[in-house]
Amino acid sequence: MILGVIADDFTGATDVASMLVRAGMHTVQVIGVPSGALPQADAVVIALKTRTCPPAEAIEQSLQALSALQGAGARQIYFKYCSTFDSTAQGNIGPVADALMKALGARITIACPAFPENGRTIYRGHLFVGDLLLSDSSMRTHPLTPMLDANLLRVLQPQTEQQVGLLPEPVVSQGPDAIGQALQALQRQGMGIAVADATHNQHLLNLAEACADLPLVTAGSGLALGLGPAYARRGWFTPKAEAAQLQPVLGRAAVVSGSCSHATQAQIAHWKAAGHASLLVDPLAVHQGRQSAQQLQAQALALLDRGPVLVHAAADADSVRAAQSQLGVQQAGDLTERTLAALAQALVQAGVRKLVVAGGETSGAVTQELGIERLRIGASICPGVPWTEGLWQGEPLWLALKSGNFGGPDFFSAALACADVQA
Ligand code: ADP
Repeated sequence: MILGVIADDFTGATDVASMLVRAGMHTVQVIGVPSGALPQADAVVIALKTRTCPPAEAIEQSLQALSALQGAGARQIYFKYCSTFDSTAQGNIGPVADALMKALGARITIACPAFPENGRTIYRGHLFVGDLLLSDSSMRTHPLTPMLDANLLRVLQPQTEQQVGLLPEPVVSQGPDAIGQALQALQRQGMGIAVADATHNQHLLNLAEACADLPLVTAGSGLALGLGPAYARRGWFTPKAEAAQLQPVLGRAAVVSGSCSHATQAQIAHWKAAGHASLLVDPLAVHQGRQSAQQLQAQALALLDRGPVLVHAAADADSVRAAQSQLGVQQAGDLTERTLAALAQALVQAGVRKLVVAGGETSGAVTQELGIERLRIGASICPGVPWTEGLWQGEPLWLALKSGNFGGPDFFSAALACADVQA
């Protein structure tokens, strides 16, 4: 194994895995801290669900993942978080980065959530989502990790014991040598983590080449684009053209969404406008007994009989606020996730073999409920979202796990069309 990745959520894990596959690396995603031996692959991505849990838990799981990856011989470790730097005031990006650096004896690393292809750029330490500062984007009202500051140095500094510095755009533009020298200079000044500017792909390629020999990198998925070529240049592996091929699968198709992001809301609206079937799950109604699990399941299966169905949580801000104020933020999220995961299980039991899931936390809950432990990573549907293949009760099941913010308005139908072509 060349690269071991520790991802703080499930869609983030498939996102980074898809970048590695694109670079010709045979990549397997393992769900949760692995209990046995890791699979043979150029890269193994361990998908945790540590984005919003208490920092001590996030640290413990990340260190367990690290020791599994080290045991399998990983040459470099990559801590992957969201391209919108999703974290709470307590962490967990800083605390986990600190713990991994300590365990690896790393003296400096970078922090770079940038992914220009998906509109995430960093300039002078400020993260932009498309044309907007992070703090003006829809992340401002995220149910679990509202991001109120776009200055990543200011966001990260209170979360870490180390000094946070900046690798500014002019240095990143100059190339790997300049970046290497700047990192050494920052280290001499006592910095442990450097927020790296990146406004287009070449910046990520420069950063990857400069950082491929560091014990640890921390980043969104974009940096992975450049690591494959950097490893190939070092003669560590030969890129493989067939890295993205999956076993064809036949069966029904469905979409399950627990994401409230603007992108997902547009995708839900687009799906409905195209006349496809959908079923709304309102966590407050479930809590109050106005929607029962049995009733929802019967409705979902009846709709599935007529074609692909979308099962989605109420995603508008008023419904989310109402559920959260009655149940509490965590409980409302948990109830929504549990309800959707049970519905996903029922859909798969009814013959769904191509399942799209929208939402990072939601994807974690669904894969856990389905008992999926590993995913082989296939071709991308859109940047950051590949089709993947898991085993459900011994049978192949294709899953597309979409981070809320990703994909164009027609993502759901595009994913299903793309699965038909690949199958
Ligand atoms: P994203 O990738 O868009 O952040 P996630 O699935 O990671 O999506 O997070 C969305 C969270 O919001 C989940 O925990 C989900 O269960 C929760 N959620 C979704 N709809 C509602 C709702 N109507 N009320 C309360 N919480 C909700």
